[in-house]
Parts: sequence; structure tokens; C-alpha cells
Amino acid sequence: MIGMQKNLPKPVDFWASNFYAVVDTDACDGCGNCEKRCQVGAASVSAKKKQSSLDLNRCIGCGVCVPTCPTKAVSLQKNYRSYGRDE
Ligand code: SF4
Ligand code: SF4
Repeated sequence: MIGMQKNLPKPVDFWASNFYAVVDTDACDGCGNCEKRCQVGAASVSAKKKQSSLDLNRCIGCGVCVPTCPTKAVSLQKNYRSYGRDE
């Protein structure tokens, strides 16, 4: 079911999550694990820059990418907007 979300323009509209992923670009070595693991197409690695970037319109905060990052560059952050607070 999550894999079907790849076909949506903005999967985050269909999932309620209290988290989103962020990448520490200094720590990222561009290995591509997060891009392979992400089921909604939120993570992509630039071949030129050798760095991951995350599309927050697509990231549903599932955390699947986090344990497969060899440099611990990707982590989850709390999404306070989902609680109705801007912090
Ligand atoms: S947490 Fe990671 S695997 Fe999950 S949707 Fe976001 S970028 Fe993709
Ligand atoms: S898994 Fe980690 S090191 Fe590899 S591209 Fe993604 S963020 Fe970068």
C-alpha cells in the first residue's frame, strides 16, 4: 500500500505523521541507500553532488531510511505543525 504512494503528487497529504526526515549534508556520502529504501520517492541522490535531498511534500516520516544510512546522516525530526503548533 505504501508503494502505491509513489504515484501521488504529494503523499504527505494522505498520511498523518508526527515526523519528517532530514539529511545532514555534511555527513551524507551519497551512497543512495535512502533513495532505494524510500517507498514514496521522497529521497533522491544527486549523481553530480553525491548528496541526498528529501522532498518534504513526499516524506511521510516512516523512518525506513534512517537505519540503513551508513553515516547516520539521515534522522527523523518531530513535525510540530502536525500538532497545530509552529515551532
Ligand atoms: S522517512 Fe525516509 S523512507 Fe520514510 S518517507 Fe521520509 S525519506 Fe522516505
Ligand atoms: S543513506 Fe545516508 S549517506 Fe547514503 S545517500 Fe542517504 S543520507 Fe546520504
